[in-house]
Amino acid sequence: VMKEMDRLDNLLPQWVEKSRPESAHGRVATYIPELSKAEWDLLGISVLNADGRYSEAGDTAFSFTLQSISKVFTLILALMDHGEEAVFSKVGKEPTGDNFNSMMKLELIQPAIPFNPLINAGAIVISSLIKGNSVEQKSERILQFFRELAGNDRLVIDHKVYRSERETGHLNRSMAYFLLDKGILEGNVEDVLDVYFRHCSIQVETADLARMALVLAYNGLDPLTGKQLIPRRFVQIAKTFMITCGMYNGSGEFAIGAGMPAKSGVSGGILTFVPGRLGIGVVGPSLNAKGNSIAGVHLIERLSREFDWSMF
Ligand code: GLN
Repeated sequence: VMKEMDRLDNLLPQWVEKSRPESAHGRVATYIPELSKAEWDLLGISVLNADGRYSEAGDTAFSFTLQSISKVFTLILALMDHGEEAVFSKVGKEPTGDNFNSMMKLELIQPAIPFNPLINAGAIVISSLIKGNSVEQKSERILQFFRELAGNDRLVIDHKVYRSERETGHLNRSMAYFLLDKGILEGNVEDVLDVYFRHCSIQVETADLARMALVLAYNGLDPLTGKQLIPRRFVQIAKTFMITCGMYNGSGEFAIGAGMPAKSGVSGGILTFVPGRLGIGVVGPSLNAKGNSIAGVHLIERLSREFDWSMF
């Protein structure tokens, strides 16, 4: 039998081309003006195994911002900073079924904690929990942590995207002030938002996503360096959220279609993995109605079927 990576090398190029036309049925995000400049028909994928071998196809040589993918790793950092009990006194553990930027359910429960850490409201609360004495220090800690996970010292913030989102992020700002009023957010709201906008604007390529995903696939161990970068329990928590909320209100459909923990972002990135085996990074800026890369979802679902990657 042909090894999985060899089969991927053979199949990926043609499968990327089969999924690429799906982009015509979606739309590039425009609510962050800088994101609207992305080329809509790009599609790229990087798959990485524990030997450090990559299989890649399509448009893998351009960078994009993490956006909501960063939320998985800020959650992990907040858990490492404060532990489970403190973090889950401020955010819940349940999917919402609403859009990622919805405020609908914020008033539903008492205390008024956001339903989960992967919707915007929850991720903003998580940003407020990152340790550090200033916005700069907190952002630098996040960036360093992400660099270590990606094995890439060159990760930086895309300042154009950051400024674009800071100037137009009124909906996020309104949620943050609401949470301040309810006593869930503490400290300077604008500073908390600044930390949030910055980590959403960290620039990566699909190979970086694959490497970060590989660490999750190995329960926090970086198989390429042998270092345990995240305590196993916190990866377990993150993985569970990725299954239940990682693709926003499209998570159920994706769990049935692909059956892999995943996290998407509005720039069109998707980070996913095959537990114990492979880290995967995909990008395709054209999004479906739920805000997930339309061609990216198509590609991952097809690969999952072909390679029997579903956990279920
Ligand atoms: N930075 C984006 C926002 O706050 C992240 C959302 C996303 O990727 N879905 O709206």
